[in-house]
Amino acid sequence: MSNSTSAYSLPFSSNTRGGFFKLIGLLLVAIGLLGMLVAAFGAEAVSPVLTGLGGIVSLSIGGILYIWEARSQKSVAEQNNGAWQNNMTARGASAWVVGVVLTGFYVLLYWYPDTLRGLTMAVEPISQWLRNRPADHWFLYGTFYTLAVMIMGVHALLKYRNSRYHIIRTISVIFFQLGFAFLLPGLLMLFNQPEFYFSYFWPLKYDYLFPGTVGYLVDNGAALGVFMVFWGAILSFAATPVLTYFWGKRWYCSWVCGCGGLAETAGDPYRHLSDKSKKAWQWEVAIIYPVFGFIIITTLILWINSWSEGRLLGNLSHGFSSTYGFFIGAIFSGVVGVGFYPIMGNRVWCRFGCPMAAYLGLLQKHFSRFRITTNGGQCISCGNCSTYCEMGIDVRHYAQQGEPIIRSSCVGCGICAHVCPRGVLKLENGPRDNRYAATPLIKRSDVNILS
Ligand code: SF4
Ligand code: SF4
Repeated sequence: MSNSTSAYSLPFSSNTRGGFFKLIGLLLVAIGLLGMLVAAFGAEAVSPVLTGLGGIVSLSIGGILYIWEARSQKSVAEQNNGAWQNNMTARGASAWVVGVVLTGFYVLLYWYPDTLRGLTMAVEPISQWLRNRPADHWFLYGTFYTLAVMIMGVHALLKYRNSRYHIIRTISVIFFQLGFAFLLPGLLMLFNQPEFYFSYFWPLKYDYLFPGTVGYLVDNGAALGVFMVFWGAILSFAATPVLTYFWGKRWYCSWVCGCGGLAETAGDPYRHLSDKSKKAWQWEVAIIYPVFGFIIITTLILWINSWSEGRLLGNLSHGFSSTYGFFIGAIFSGVVGVGFYPIMGNRVWCRFGCPMAAYLGLLQKHFSRFRITTNGGQCISCGNCSTYCEMGIDVRHYAQQGEPIIRSSCVGCGICAHVCPRGVLKLENGPRDNRYAATPLIKRSDVNILS
């Protein structure tokens, strides 16, 4: 990697047309941030719709303009240049500022939502238009989340523009976030149906199989509510194993899931920050499977409690579900999972905490066709693959041996194959026969030139 030109460099020294548009983009972003700050702190004095919503629009247009110019001016081979030299993507001061702002936002969102009243009022027209009801802090969050996936989706589309796989994959995560996690739940509410996210299932959306939610959907959603419960159960216990058998966990983690969608778009500039050490892998195993076990036990206890009408376990089930919701649902998936992107990489939640990733990972490792095959004889040990693996897998180690990569944590993003200069890596779904077989390596000692 060269350190010549930063991916996010300021354009003031450039005389090109691109430099001018980058400057305009930055100005719009700055105006947008200012407007949002005014909406957040001065909603009483100035219309939050004018400042806040205007700010969001300005920031979105400016962000896309800047990204477009910054990315399209670079050739596909230069897209990762400067990743380790840039303050923003190499844990510099600006990265810490972004991390603190993101973490702070999640703290306000979960525990002090009143402080976001000004910004919530800013998205009121969108909420009325889409759902015909007042905006709340969760709608604000959904709007920000979806915008982040869309704007940084443009970034990913430009960055990986020479790869059909990554173009389709990026369009897929944008589609599922915008359609299934933002517009569809809003439209359901518009027609007075229960809010439901068809792209999330148990155990990630853990409460979808809790007796309270099942009862609520059946009682309030009539036939559609019954379908929602059926959909959730089928996706969790039938479709997930079948799809994972054929394609590994990538069908969900890198194509459908909203958490994965944010990681692959907004989090993409931080993917190289994932810890590749053995210690990190040990932490990963030590945390993610107990989290999965925790939600299985919580769900079972809730159902036992529901069937026994509280006589068997009393308040125990409530304690389990509220503990899980606080520590895993709020602190881990939100505050740490996204807030720590600029410091620990973009898949902290997926790697260490997501119960769905644990479930899919077990299926992928033991009951799937998916693997990444390595043509080890071609590997030049450059390490690009390991550097850009967001799940902290030392891909190069496997490539050097010619061994297939069959790891439960691999989300099948395919970036390791994309950045490999030698075409060593290939994501495959062929029959399981010889799945673990390594490609034969020709060693120096095997070649007898002078006999
Ligand atoms: S091994 Fe490759 S496909 Fe799997 S998570 Fe890492 S970069 Fe993505
Ligand atoms: S990127 Fe390709 S050539 Fe470089 S270490 Fe990885 S497999 Fe080997």
